[in-house]
Amino acid sequence: MTRLARRQFICLTDNYGVLLKDEVSHTVIAVDVPDAAPYLQELRETGWRLTHILITHHHWDHVQGLSALKQATGAKVIGPALSRDKIQDLDDVVEDGDTLDVGGLRVDALATPGHTLDQISWHFPEGGVAHTGDTLFSLGCGRVFEGDLAMMWASLAKLMRQLPDETVIYCGHEYTLSNARFALAMDPDNAALRQRVQEVERLRSEHLPTLPTTMAREKATNPFLRAADPVFAEKLGMAGAAPAEVFAKLRNAKDTF
Ligand SMILES: [Zn+2]
Repeated sequence: MTRLARRQFICLTDNYGVLLKDEVSHTVIAVDVPDAAPYLQELRETGWRLTHILITHHHWDHVQGLSALKQATGAKVIGPALSRDKIQDLDDVVEDGDTLDVGGLRVDALATPGHTLDQISWHFPEGGVAHTGDTLFSLGCGRVFEGDLAMMWASLAKLMRQLPDETVIYCGHEYTLSNARFALAMDPDNAALRQRVQEVERLRSEHLPTLPTTMAREKATNPFLRAADPVFAEKLGMAGAAPAEVFAKLRNAKDTF
């Protein structure tokens, strides 16, 4: 699926900026704006004309550059209805399950609360791409700040159900290397994970990104998604436990790892 051309670049320290261009409609979408300057530079380099900005959640490191980028480009801004009062510059808001026509491209809004209550994951089914904000990371998941552990688990389970395995996944941060250490400690004899960790170490030693990832890869290697696998639960000494309980134990363990 090559309908969406994609650019990803670091903003601030470890946040990602993402630009998607629909080759059919020429719609150009930014997802989150940690900083306007790197976006403006990418737009200059590519010659792409930004038409829309989608926001995943209200944290400052995802919206700090929003006003400046909107002002410079005139792009339309769409974000979570729950953050209507927290995020300035929203032109339109979405709730869970909304399907949008964004300049001719279909975009599905999936509410995935837990890290924050407002969190939206954006799915571009015609391009085989999703952006999961600070909900799902490669080999990890976001910290639970505003929701609770059961809510976060429900959100991850929903992403596993709704995003096809081949979906190319972008997220808010380059945290993969530190996530990898925890993942290996929990799941040391997972061959797919060991291979992925080697790849992550090589990429980071060359200062290259480990994102995007895919849903299939995360299902095979991300310990937080593997909470649904009874064999993995048994290895953690939690045979027969519900996936939500296994997830809660892992998330708490990661917080003090
Ligand atoms: Zn956040």
